[in-house]
Amino acid sequence: MFDFAGSMAFKRVLIANRGEIALRILRTLRDMGIEAAIIHGREDRLSLPVRLSDFAYDNSRPNPLDSYLDIESVVAAAKELKCDAVHPGYGFLAENANFVRRLEEEGITFIGPSADVITLLGDKIEARAAMEAAGLPTAKGSSEPISEAGVASALADDIGYPVIIKAAAGGGGIGMQIVSKASEFESALKLCQSRAKSAFGDERVFVEKYIEGAQHVEFQVLADGKNAIHFGERFCSIQRRHQKLIEEGPWLDDAKRAEIGSLVCKGAESVGYKGLATFEFLRDAHGDFYFLEVNPRVQVEHTVTELITGHNLVELGIRVAQGESLPLKQEDIEWRGHAVQCRLNAEDPREFIPSPGRLWECHFPSGYGIRCDTHAHPGYDMPGCFDSLLAKLLTWGKDREDAIARMKTALDETVITGVEHLIPLHRRIMDEKDYNDGNITIQYIDNHQELLG
Ligand code: ADP
Repeated sequence: MFDFAGSMAFKRVLIANRGEIALRILRTLRDMGIEAAIIHGREDRLSLPVRLSDFAYDNSRPNPLDSYLDIESVVAAAKELKCDAVHPGYGFLAENANFVRRLEEEGITFIGPSADVITLLGDKIEARAAMEAAGLPTAKGSSEPISEAGVASALADDIGYPVIIKAAAGGGGIGMQIVSKASEFESALKLCQSRAKSAFGDERVFVEKYIEGAQHVEFQVLADGKNAIHFGERFCSIQRRHQKLIEEGPWLDDAKRAEIGSLVCKGAESVGYKGLATFEFLRDAHGDFYFLEVNPRVQVEHTVTELITGHNLVELGIRVAQGESLPLKQEDIEWRGHAVQCRLNAEDPREFIPSPGRLWECHFPSGYGIRCDTHAHPGYDMPGCFDSLLAKLLTWGKDREDAIARMKTALDETVITGVEHLIPLHRRIMDEKDYNDGNITIQYIDNHQELLG
């Protein structure tokens, strides 16, 4: 079926994911009149997205992760279910170029960028070089993989300590090592390489200047393969083990947003990007930006941007995958009020150890200015083998103060029994002075150990 822009409207899409993001995608497919198919493993056979889907495909494997990671069986499911396209969500196969290539071979559309773009951006060394060439500011660092302590320390002498060693194929903050003197390189390099090897099957690591007192600021981009627009920034500095706990926006003034926004659009256009992307930066105490990486997919925190811009990002990602040109111009994007998102992980709020189990009771808040994206329900068995994200609780307010006040109300109303969760931590953060003053860096949790009480 061809629609107005000469593009191919999808009839049926396979969701190759689980949990809240599977439900998020399913709802939008419904809104768009597209049939929703889904694969699932044993643990998820009774989950909400599976029950609500039009077609469910049991892809159970002895190792639960394989149900979502086995490329050939996911491709077989897409073919058998006669899907026009696959939505990968985040995690699992979302950044797997081999998967994208296999789908391309079968004539099935991958909702996201091309295999070549994923390969380029998946390598942080290459991505840094490409974005530097497009005019984005990057931190000083190595332009090639580093495996010898001598080479690393010569570079560190040049750029200045501390430095950080990171995996070229990295993700999820895995393996990163901060080095503050030359004698630490030998063991830090080995540790980062071995973590990288076991997590990503690629032991290449590189060194970059460690930005002290940094904030994490990221830009949401949508591109159609030719042109790109941005939806502004999200502030994601409240992290544990380099993983985000709270995201919010907006954070910058209009001039800075326009400046960095136009750079990220140039960056996306320079690689022929198609789909949703997030450009991540660190921002130092002087307000200078350093490009970190591009996440070539929908992100957990895209919801923050949806609340402040009023645009359905998942829908837009699907529309450009159908072949439509960008349906919006940069001038169409406006920002209104402030949104905060708390990740309600099933983890203990002291050491962040996953807490799987059955939810005996659960109630999520709703009402003016509140959004909760979750696949959880009373009786839901939270598995221990997947990500611990149970729900994303968002509030919108006319300004930051208003959004925070509403978040306190929303957190107080939420009931989750049966697993440990992060509500007590989020609630304390919402009352904490530095948080309320916006006096936040990526060391926030380290510097506020009292909150882990
Ligand atoms: P990953 O892909 O593993 O998530 P990123 O490069 O996106 O890795 O970095 C994740 C987090 O690690 C950042 O938000 C920040 O907290 C920390 N980090 C990464 N690079 C640096 C750096 N050069 N200086 C300071 N912190 C860094």
